[in-house]
Amino acid sequence: MEKYVPDIYQKSIYTLDYSKLLSKGIKCILFDIDNTLAPMHYTEVSDKTKELIISLKQKGFKVYLFSNGPKRRVIFFEQALGVKGVYFAFKPFQSKLKKFIKQTGFALEEIALVGDQILTDVLAGNKVGITTILVTPVSNKDHLPTKIIRFLENRKMKKLNKKNLFTKGEYYD
Ligand SMILES: [Mg+2]
Repeated sequence: MEKYVPDIYQKSIYTLDYSKLLSKGIKCILFDIDNTLAPMHYTEVSDKTKELIISLKQKGFKVYLFSNGPKRRVIFFEQALGVKGVYFAFKPFQSKLKKFIKQTGFALEEIALVGDQILTDVLAGNKVGITTILVTPVSNKDHLPTKIIRFLENRKMKKLNKKNLFTKGEYYD
């Protein structure tokens, strides 16, 4: 059950305490795109998001995108934010994440994955052993596959809640 529980849970990428992440030894942050950085289907990146990414780079973080979305969508965000990314990441499967870790050479303790879904983002990160950070989705519009995952996720969250492992909306860091 704990593999579905994030290490950190925040309302958004803007409420996350990045200085605290640095002090914990995190050097590399992987961001999910859809409903984490931007609403689904959005083909615009807000200035607020751009400024956040710039500030993270200034703090010394290496920032990457790690998305289950297609190449086209990831390239758009790469160019808008000036970072590199992985597309078709197949979260919650571990293979692309392990490949990324091997290629970049970061230690597991140095990597955090930020996403909006426990059944994909959190599960993938926890299985591999990196720091997992859950944020509340920025919009409630989802692709059909995500709608199905979201349905299963709500059931999972209720189970986790019964076991006092996780409560939706009760943020912690
Ligand atoms: Mg997402």
